[in-house]
Amino acid sequence: MSIFSCDNCGSKFESDTLPRRGSICFGCHIRTIRIGFTHGKEDFHGPTIKQRQDEQMAQAHAAGINAEPVGTRWV
Ligand SMILES: [Zn+2]
Repeated sequence: MSIFSCDNCGSKFESDTLPRRGSICFGCHIRTIRIGFTHGKEDFHGPTIKQRQDEQMAQAHAAGINAEPVGTRWV
């Protein structure tokens, strides 16, 4: 185990070898991953899916199909 100090937040962390990401602690590393993940997720699951659902509902209504959202049928 060696002690490295994080280039980003300056905190010390232990590692067998210098991580490939550089001298960045795990906390800072996770934070960057999560930021990237959240952005990608918003792009992917954002308004597009909701729009598509609304569109399908409208089309189903137009076709005379009872397109109640799942979950309301048995209430
Ligand atoms: Zn850090």
